Amino acid sequence: MNFAAPNSSLEVSQETVRLLQQELARTNQEVLLLTLELEKRVEDRTAELRLAREQLLKTNQELLQLTLKLEHRVAERTQELTQLNDALLQEIKERKQAEANLQTANEALRQANSDLEQFAYSASHDLQEPLRMVSTFSQMLKKKYGGKLDADADQYIRYTVEGATRMERLITDLLTYTSLTSTPKGATTAIDANEALLCAISNLQAAIEENGAVITRSNLPRVWMQPVHLGQVFQNLLGNAIKYRKKESPQIVIDAVRRENEWLFSVQDNGIGIDGQYANDIFGIFKRLHSTAEYFGTGMGLAICKRIIERYGGRIWVESQLGNGSTFLFTVPDGGSNEPV
Ligand code: ADP
Repeated sequence: MNFAAPNSSLEVSQETVRLLQQELARTNQEVLLLTLELEKRVEDRTAELRLAREQLLKTNQELLQLTLKLEHRVAERTQELTQLNDALLQEIKERKQAEANLQTANEALRQANSDLEQFAYSASHDLQEPLRMVSTFSQMLKKKYGGKLDADADQYIRYTVEGATRMERLITDLLTYTSLTSTPKGATTAIDANEALLCAISNLQAAIEENGAVITRSNLPRVWMQPVHLGQVFQNLLGNAIKYRKKESPQIVIDAVRRENEWLFSVQDNGIGIDGQYANDIFGIFKRLHSTAEYFGTGMGLAICKRIIERYGGRIWVESQLGNGSTFLFTVPDGGSNEPV
C-alpha cells in the first residue's frame, strides 16, 4: 500500500481514506469470516464434546452395571465357597471321627486278638497234662487188655489211642503256633541258613531214608533269624515235600537267590502238587486238603511257617500245579549284613 505524505492534496487523503476503508472493510470481512469459521468450529467441537460426554456417561453407566453384576457374582461365589468350605470342614470332621472310631475298633480288635491268643496259648498249654494222662492210660489199656476182650473193645481201644495221639499232635502244634507271639521278635545275630537246613534234614533222617528222598541244596546265605525258627520252616516244608510225594521217590531242591533287600528261598519238590485255588488257604490254621486217612497231619505246619516268616517281615507263598510238584517260596528281609557264607 502506498500512503501519500500529510502535506499531499485532499484528493490523495480521500483516496487514502477510501483505500483504508476498503482495507478495513476487507479486514472486517475476513474477521467476520474468521469469526463465523471459529463459531462453526466451536459449535462442532461443542457437539463433539457433548457426544463424547454422552458416550462417557453411557460407558460409566455400563461400567456401573457391570460392577454391580460383578459384585453380585462375587457375593454369590463367596457364598457358594463358604458353603463348600463348611461342607468340607464337616466332611473332615466326620472323617476324623470315623478314623478315631476305626482306631478304637482296631485297638479293641488288637486287644481281643491278643486275649484270644493268650487264651489259645493257655488252653493248649493246660490241655497238655490231662491229654497226656488220656494218652498214657489208653496205651496202658491197650497193652494190658488188647486182644483179651472182644473185637469191639479192641477197636474202641485203638480209636482211643489214635484219637489221643492225634489230639496230642494238634495241641503241640497249636502251642508252637501260639507261643510264636509270646516269644520276643527278631534276631540279634545273623545265622548260617545251611546249619538250620542241616538240622532240619537230620531231624527228618528217618523219613528221608524211608522214602528214598534226594535233597539237593545250593550254598545258603546268612540271615537274621533265630536258628530254631528257620529250622522249623525248613523242617515243615521238607516234611511236606516228602509226605506229599508221588510214586517216584521225592526229589527236593533248596535254593536261595539275592534280591534287592532280601533273600528269596525256595523249596521245590516233585510231589502231588496243589490245585491253584487252594494256594492261599493252605497257610491257614488247621487247613488241610487231605483227610488224616490219606496223609497224617494237623494242618498247622504251613500256618506255623507263615507266622514265623511274617514275624521277620518276609512273605511265603506256593507256586504249584496239581500233579506237577510244588515250589514253596519265602523271603527273609535284610536285618543287617546278610552276606552269603
Ligand atoms: P499238614 O501237612 O499237617 O496237613 P500243612 O499246614 O503243612 O499241614 O499243609 C497244609 C496242606 O497243604 C496239606 O494238608 C496239604 O494238602 C498241602 N500241602 C502242603 N505241602 C504240600 C506239598 N509239598 N505238596 C502238596 N501239598 C502240600
